Amino acid sequence: MSGAHFAFTDRWGGVSAAPYEELNLGGAVGDAPEAVRANRELAAKSLGLDPGLVVWMNQVHGADVAVVDEPWGGTAVPEVDAIVTARRGLALAVLTADCVPVLLADPVAGVAAAAHAGRPGMLKGVVPAAVRAMAELGADPERIVARTGPAVCGRCYEVPETMRAEATAVEPAAHAETSWGTPALDVSAGVHAQLDRLGVHDRAQSPVCTLESGDHFSYRRDRATGRLAGYVWLD
Ligand SMILES: [Zn+2]
Repeated sequence: MSGAHFAFTDRWGGVSAAPYEELNLGGAVGDAPEAVRANRELAAKSLGLDPGLVVWMNQVHGADVAVVDEPWGGTAVPEVDAIVTARRGLALAVLTADCVPVLLADPVAGVAAAAHAGRPGMLKGVVPAAVRAMAELGADPERIVARTGPAVCGRCYEVPETMRAEATAVEPAAHAETSWGTPALDVSAGVHAQLDRLGVHDRAQSPVCTLESGDHFSYRRDRATGRLAGYVWLD
């Protein structure tokens, strides 16, 4: 049995200038394309990955999933919020700056997935969709290892009362309150509840809140900012 690898970046160690300093990995946030390219190479090499064997998504806050067995190459990167592979050695990457990066792997079946779960994606079920796509490739939820990365926490993610009511009608576990006593959502808690109901019990959650951490990009805090990445791959 080969191992699964999970990694989440912070904002340091790259070449981007303010306000994307330093390791911005997002290609659609206004940063210089050559800086993003250099950062993606630096990040991949620091993880021991071939930068040419990392698959990215065109994330749109949806619940569509693509199955991949190689990088997109010259073809247009599809608008999906989850990618799944049964190819060992191929790394899957998800970009975030407050949303929840979700990494999944069944090392026995050799199936991995990366998903982008903000509030809309969590409510649309992008993570259950990724788990179903993994199962179609032979993964067993009881064997899936799940890791969620740095994201805005439930004490910081303030939303209008009506939005919280709508969201918690779909996913009660996302109910939260800010540290200052107003309605909030805990998207990470919602994602973990979804995974738990699917039988994915080997889970861990990053303790980092992006909005509170100066070492991480936070869209809600800074608006113009970079993107962090989560990477998953199997030996
Ligand atoms: Zn927080």
